[in-house]
Amino acid sequence: MWLIGAHVSIAGEISQSFDRAKALNCTAFQIFTRNPRGWASKKLDEKEILNFHKKFEETGLFPVAHMPYLPNLASPNKEIYDKSVKILSEELTKCHILKIQYLVTHMGSHMGTSEEEGIRRVAEACNIALKSSEGNTMLLLENTAGQKNSVGHTLGHLRRCLDLIEDQSRAGVCFDTCHGFAAGYDIRTQDAVEHLLKDFEGTIGIERLKVIHVNDSKGALNSHLDRHEHIGRGQIGLNGFKALMSFKQVRKLPLIIETPYESEKDYMRDIEILWSIAKEQV
Ligand code: ZN
Ligand code: MN
Ligand code: MN
Repeated sequence: MWLIGAHVSIAGEISQSFDRAKALNCTAFQIFTRNPRGWASKKLDEKEILNFHKKFEETGLFPVAHMPYLPNLASPNKEIYDKSVKILSEELTKCHILKIQYLVTHMGSHMGTSEEEGIRRVAEACNIALKSSEGNTMLLLENTAGQKNSVGHTLGHLRRCLDLIEDQSRAGVCFDTCHGFAAGYDIRTQDAVEHLLKDFEGTIGIERLKVIHVNDSKGALNSHLDRHEHIGRGQIGLNGFKALMSFKQVRKLPLIIETPYESEKDYMRDIEILWSIAKEQV
């Protein structure tokens, strides 16, 4: 079964994310488990947790969690860094309570120090958070588009960071197609995708790829622009996504869109496109 989904809102109560995903014809979905643009967070209450578990069982949908945007796990500023690590730990515990298997995180910005230092700080943050949190939710490092000072825009960065994480069983990768394309990884043709998957296998190991963020890109190849576009309307194009979904390594993974949200219609169209590609595969 294909796990096709979208990033959905948790407005109201967190369990409503299941209803929103279902209405979009998703079999998987992604949520922020707290306000993505603030530092504060309220604790989940018992009823919310029970409702989430209940809908989880009823729907059989596959939820993935994403870290909020403010934390910076690569920050050289101790105060920001400590706050960021604390949130990572709290979110891991929250995922455990909600029975969510994967928590996706950006690696952050080294703020002009250096890539190596940034990578080391991210790995250390992961080690502290994995040790201080409950459960066994897996942390997924997401590749970035390679904006100024960002850590994680090459497969090598991801590998070097993963290598420094002590609990290997709880660290994997979320690959974002828009970010990857903007960072210089071509995805437009069958050959290009084959090359990327081989590169992934050689550098990291394909079994560590756990989630794909399926986004088209407004920016050109190697533009380092993090600008998502609707499936088929960007620089990657429909053929790229057809190529990607033709590989068996990709088929069992949650494929989550984070395309621009102007209206539910746009989202539904993107999801529909992914389903029609899925149905073409034999
Ligand atoms: Zn992300
Ligand atoms: Mn993403
Ligand atoms: Mn992005």
